[in-house]
Amino acid sequence: MEVNTSATQGASTPFDIDIPVATTAFFFDLDGTLADLAPTPDEVRLQPDTACALAALAKHSGRAMAVISGRAIVDVDHILAPLVVAVAGLHGAEIRNAAGVVTHSASRMADTAQVADMAAVLQALIDQHPGLLMENKGSALALHYRGAPELANVVRDTMRALADQHAHAFALQPGKLVFELRPRGVSKGGAIVTLMGEAPFAGRTPLFVGDDLTDETGFARVNEAGGITIKIGDGQTCARHRLPSPGALTTWLLTLQ
Ligand SMILES: [Mg+2]
Repeated sequence: MEVNTSATQGASTPFDIDIPVATTAFFFDLDGTLADLAPTPDEVRLQPDTACALAALAKHSGRAMAVISGRAIVDVDHILAPLVVAVAGLHGAEIRNAAGVVTHSASRMADTAQVADMAAVLQALIDQHPGLLMENKGSALALHYRGAPELANVVRDTMRALADQHAHAFALQPGKLVFELRPRGVSKGGAIVTLMGEAPFAGRTPLFVGDDLTDETGFARVNEAGGITIKIGDGQTCARHRLPSPGALTTWLLTLQ
């Protein structure tokens, strides 16, 4: 896998690439990509100019646009409202295509008793360390330590132990100040490949923008398909282009109209 180790400075920006909107399939991560991160996931909002840029792009691309997120579909819809687009939620464990049909991966149907057991372990840790925040997504669990970054190792070790105990159904997904237990066998890259097999995405050139480790499988699949990959912010990546922030992405998207 080609890895782009450069930081934002000196990396190629997408501003001088020709993006034919009518023949491109647009895939976007949400948190940290379309919207700035916030102290808690509930506080993340789409800026009005980003919402306008997405609505225009959805229209001009023939609705060949999808959000590929770690959030559940219902949560993505809430942030994008009133715009409704195709969504891959829970890192690809649930997919709503452009026709509005929702499919759940087999591993999405996780044993709710297992999730409850794991949530109880995490709640006990949070009771000791109130700076931690659990996000229970039904079939995925995230433990955020943005409010207590000094607990990174405790959070990692706890989540890794749970992932090991439930390895048949769950995998550990690191992210920015978060560790997550996501359903095993799904990925953002897999979700993009699935959507690229269907109208209106099929036959187009894929473009994927993301900011975090979970997006790397998306970058890899889109690079393999000869598409365009853009990393938001710093950090190692196999994306071929970079933009510094969600605001810079919006500025660029507005140039595509
Ligand atoms: Mg993100």
